[in-house]
Amino acid sequence: MKNRTHENIITEKTINIIIPCYNEDTIIYDSFQRIKSCVDELPYTFSYTFINDGSADNTLSILKDICSKNDNCSFISFSRNFGKEAALMAGFDNFKGDALLILDADLQDPPELIKEFVKEWGHENYDIVYGKREKRSGETWLKKTTAYCFYRIINTISFIQLPVDAGDFWLIDKRVVGEMIKLRENHRYTKGLLSWVGFKRKAVSYTREKRIGGESKFNIFQLINLSIEAFTGYSLAPLKIITVLGFIVSFFSFIFGVYTITKALVFGIDTPGYTSTIAVLCFLSGIQLLSLGVIGEYIGRIFNEAKKRSPYIVEEISICVTSNV
Ligand code: UDP
Ligand code: MG
Repeated sequence: MKNRTHENIITEKTINIIIPCYNEDTIIYDSFQRIKSCVDELPYTFSYTFINDGSADNTLSILKDICSKNDNCSFISFSRNFGKEAALMAGFDNFKGDALLILDADLQDPPELIKEFVKEWGHENYDIVYGKREKRSGETWLKKTTAYCFYRIINTISFIQLPVDAGDFWLIDKRVVGEMIKLRENHRYTKGLLSWVGFKRKAVSYTREKRIGGESKFNIFQLINLSIEAFTGYSLAPLKIITVLGFIVSFFSFIFGVYTITKALVFGIDTPGYTSTIAVLCFLSGIQLLSLGVIGEYIGRIFNEAKKRSPYIVEEISICVTSNV
């Protein structure tokens, strides 16, 4: 067991860094080296768990190479791409240590900040420490704007408060990890779950960097899907909104109906009116389809959860050989 001193504190605590990797062969080795150089001087024992989320490139062979040369590294390899949320879940499930740190492979969240994270956790006793993005370099205007709006809207309508502008850069104490592991839902939104579990938390502000290489794996449609996941997972507001919308449309339809009938009775049948009839018909059909779509999103999620399929399948796993992690 490693004992090092830092600011006059001797600790034997271990921190498990989990890194989801999907087609990251161009950067994963350099990422590991940079993270290692940042954490090696800290007074904790670090272990690394790489989750290979069904990469189609050479990520797995690089991970095997890293793990064969470093006793404190291990990998979990999925049978196919199950998505980042499933990769994080596998990291939680296989966690060993006193705290877990989530870090993306592309180092958009600078590992130099880990020092500050562990200080808040180890010295100030926060159970959760997370990065709050003050600035985001190298991301499109569309992504920044939609992310900005997303957090503000969801916090208005949901029954949890998501940490505004938080990324996937979290240090989590083992007792929170214990609670997270109990949550087995398939439609996952880890940030939402981390908010839902509660516990004492602290935000550390930082600037999100550009990727050190490779490309983002999330296109606009996947981001929209993740947002729907968050809205349907943590709020019933969309259902309530369509109910209110239904009332409003019914009210105006009733008024319009009374007006049309009265007009027909007083002035006789008025044949012209094709355009307005079509307009009203299209409007009401649109509202109905929208409502069905919103209800469908919830039903689809119930359907998927009812099947109780495992959120990921492990094809290969390596064991961390260091005895103390
Ligand atoms: N990732 C993953 N599975 C996926 C997509 C992404 O494990 O299906 C990993 C990816 O390798 C990276 C992290 O999740 O380590 C964040 O992905 P990315 O940088 O593409 O997302 P962005 O930062 O653009 O939101
Ligand atoms: Mg990234």
